[in-house]
Amino acid sequence: MQDAAAEPIAFIDLAAQRRRLGAAIDKAILRVVDHGGYIMGPEVKRLEAGLGAFCGARHAITCSNGTDALALVLMAKGVRPGDAILCPSFTFAATAEVVAFLGATPVFVDCLPDTFNMDPASLARGIATGRRLGLNPVGVIAVDLFGQPADYDAIEPLCADHGLWLLCDAAQGFGATHRGRAVGSIGMATCTSFFPAKPLGCYGDGGAIFTDDDELAAAIRSLRVHGQGADKYDNVRVGMNGRLDTVQAAVLIEKLRIFPDEIAARDRIARRYAACLADVALVPRLAPGCTSVWAQYTLRLPAGRRDAVAATLKQAGVPTAVYYARPLHLQTAYRHHPVAEGGLPVSEALAAEVLSLPMHPYLSEAVQDRVVAALRAALGAGIRADAAA
Ligand SMILES: *Cc1c(COP(=O)(O)O)cnc(C)c1O
Repeated sequence: MQDAAAEPIAFIDLAAQRRRLGAAIDKAILRVVDHGGYIMGPEVKRLEAGLGAFCGARHAITCSNGTDALALVLMAKGVRPGDAILCPSFTFAATAEVVAFLGATPVFVDCLPDTFNMDPASLARGIATGRRLGLNPVGVIAVDLFGQPADYDAIEPLCADHGLWLLCDAAQGFGATHRGRAVGSIGMATCTSFFPAKPLGCYGDGGAIFTDDDELAAAIRSLRVHGQGADKYDNVRVGMNGRLDTVQAAVLIEKLRIFPDEIAARDRIARRYAACLADVALVPRLAPGCTSVWAQYTLRLPAGRRDAVAATLKQAGVPTAVYYARPLHLQTAYRHHPVAEGGLPVSEALAAEVLSLPMHPYLSEAVQDRVVAALRAALGAGIRADAAA
């Protein structure tokens, strides 16, 4: 038995999951290698059926990655220059990238300080800002940041009032629920990513789109294969090569089996972090009625201290990450795009305060205790003997 105190700590331990899955994935991959249906083989359809059943979506359409998933939906909606799409600034670049790539204008919206998700009041201001600039607001991309669903109670009626579609970027949130509704069954469509470090990841790039809209699903399926019509060599739209590899589908079928159990483990670990750290840092808050898949476990630390704390933790062998050190509206590639009236003060403040801790379903209590002790020491706080009990 190895001494827990000597083991290096992983930020996300994919090797532990691989040990658990044992030979199942190797066998699944080899089956594909042997049957030879590398492109759109039988595993792709089986995975799509499994994903659709998992989240209750009528259509589950797999694709090459989470970014292409977003692009495929925007292409199917005919997004074009002059259109404005409201999206958060405190997110991964892909959320806004697809909007700009299609020549439309992302209008950046602020987030809430406790859930880190889109602020509905800022969204309302952003819609007005877009109109005032002479743009045509057509839709909203809400992000389920760090694994928690956005505030759909407020965002859905806002979209309906303004005639905007709602696309959920659930690259981090697939597997979570909002008032009993599974992520994947909310809004016009939902996109997710199977990038290896996401809660449900494959062994390469992958993504999926979920929708109940038959017409939208048909357009996306066509766009995924070069805008195909009746057959492969009938092109009715300008599309892309956006398919998921069969090998990745085979990997995901095996991982989906244990996903519910992994979600439960993530939740247990997040609760334990909160119990051990709530007295020394701002721990993440779940909105009423929300569950999270805890793609990241992200604290807020006093702004001036975040980087020093991260450096101290690194020395103690505890890896951390900053998601996101710079919001998109301050990035070189995006800073010429408009922001919602009133600015984005929360996004800017969070960028200096957030720190994400090691989080994955196989984080043992012993290792978690080391993370907690190192963080408390870095913050100059004592060990709470009662907290982990
Ligand atoms: C990871 C991520 C994406 C992009 O997914 P890829 O599969 O890496 O293309 C999009 N949006 C958010 C919020 C993400 O975290």
